[in-house]
Amino acid sequence: MQQASSVPLAPFWAAIANGKFLIPQCAVCGQWQSPASARCANCGSDLLAWKPGRGTGRIYSLMERLPAEPGGEAIVVAVVELDEGPRMLAAVRARPGVADAGKPVAAALTAERSPEGLPFFTLSAS
Ligand SMILES: [Zn+2]
Repeated sequence: MQQASSVPLAPFWAAIANGKFLIPQCAVCGQWQSPASARCANCGSDLLAWKPGRGTGRIYSLMERLPAEPGGEAIVVAVVELDEGPRMLAAVRARPGVADAGKPVAAALTAERSPEGLPFFTLSAS
């Protein structure tokens, strides 16, 4: 909680620890924003309000880190495109080679962070 980068995300982490998935919504134009956003990508306003999101989306792109042990799970660092539209970085645990672009994911509603400090998502049944 000491990193400066975590400060704008404090509401996100406080909510997810309580089982709620919040993402910022622009109070001016209504467009949903990535949780890391300080300003609206559409209109530039900084009037962003944290609102409940669905917590679901699809893997847009990914980088897989192979498991430390054979047969273990890989941790995938993924850009997830949320159903509301914005993209965010997340970590996905999966068998090696299973996570792929386009696969549906859902936020794991836990305060646990990946070694990169990212929230976990889990693969959904497609
Ligand atoms: Zn806006």
